[in-house]
Amino acid sequence: MENVIIVGTGCAGLTAAIYTGRANLSPLVLEGRLPGGQLTTTTAVENFPGFPDGVDGPDLIQRMHQQAEKFGARFQYGVVEAFEPGTPHRLKVDGAWMETKSLIIASGASPRYIGIEGEQALIGHGLTSCATCDGAFYRNVPVCVVGGGDSACEEATFLTRFASEVYLIHRRDTLRASKIMADRALANPKIKPVWNSAVTGYITDEAGEVSGVHLKNLKDGTTSELALKCVFVAIGHEPNTAPFRNSLTTDSNGYLVQAGGTRTNVPGVFAAGDVADHVYRQAITAAGQGCAAAIEAERWLADSE
Ligand code: NAP
Repeated sequence: MENVIIVGTGCAGLTAAIYTGRANLSPLVLEGRLPGGQLTTTTAVENFPGFPDGVDGPDLIQRMHQQAEKFGARFQYGVVEAFEPGTPHRLKVDGAWMETKSLIIASGASPRYIGIEGEQALIGHGLTSCATCDGAFYRNVPVCVVGGGDSACEEATFLTRFASEVYLIHRRDTLRASKIMADRALANPKIKPVWNSAVTGYITDEAGEVSGVHLKNLKDGTTSELALKCVFVAIGHEPNTAPFRNSLTTDSNGYLVQAGGTRTNVPGVFAAGDVADHVYRQAITAAGQGCAAAIEAERWLADSE
């Protein structure tokens, strides 16, 4: 029987591991399909406080991992397949059931990509899903954002601070985004909408960096090429909540709902980071929620003894 199992080893899970470790709870931390989370897919992180010269994403995660281990966190690879709330809570991990008094779910969200062949290998080489993380690397060069929702409009507007022009490539000719965000994006002279279009391929330079995209007009079938330096994909995220959706309250997009602090609707089960947060989605906010979840789990365990 574990005191606390933490699902996920991104910023939220590792911060929860540091705090529950320091509270002598000997947390068991499950590393899933992407150990280290989304930061391991980025390069320089320039907005994490305390690193004025930036920090390498995987390096930051590695440091958090070491810090958690130093305080007694135990790590195990394993994908959660099923969850049964109760006293204790039960988790099926790679075919075997585990029991725990409390649970912190920090399994994150996975950005959706377009699904073109070879796409995954270009992430970090002119293909990204995070304008906040990578926008500042593309100053005075053309970039594009793919998508037509609030995220796409927000990212496109943000990128106009840096890029010379921002192509907003959308598969239809009306935006899904809320009116205020759509209007703001379309009124920006640096944002150039490319309607009814799908990215069908990436063009790369000799260094293997993205240098353009192949486009297909979905109305008339014509194809074209667009030269640019970075593709920001903003076609939504998938919260990694599949094993929990039967038992825990989720919103219409599948994100875990926090019922005050990081508590879920099940006592002793807490949610932290991108698995519950589709608004901020930052390393520092995920870390903050991991800290809060750890403190709440610690208090919940003390109260339930
Ligand atoms: P979203 O609203 O689901 O929009 C996804 C966009 O990507 C849609 O325009 C969709 O096209 C397009 N798309 C989906 N799959 C595609 C594919 N395979 N190829 C090309 N395009 C594809 O996602 P989101 O913009 O990330 O927003 C998610 C939620 O967070 C929303 O509720 C949103 O309001 C909220 N959010 C709020 C804010 C804010 O208020 N500040 C900021 C960001 C997000 P179609 O339109 O044709 O379906």
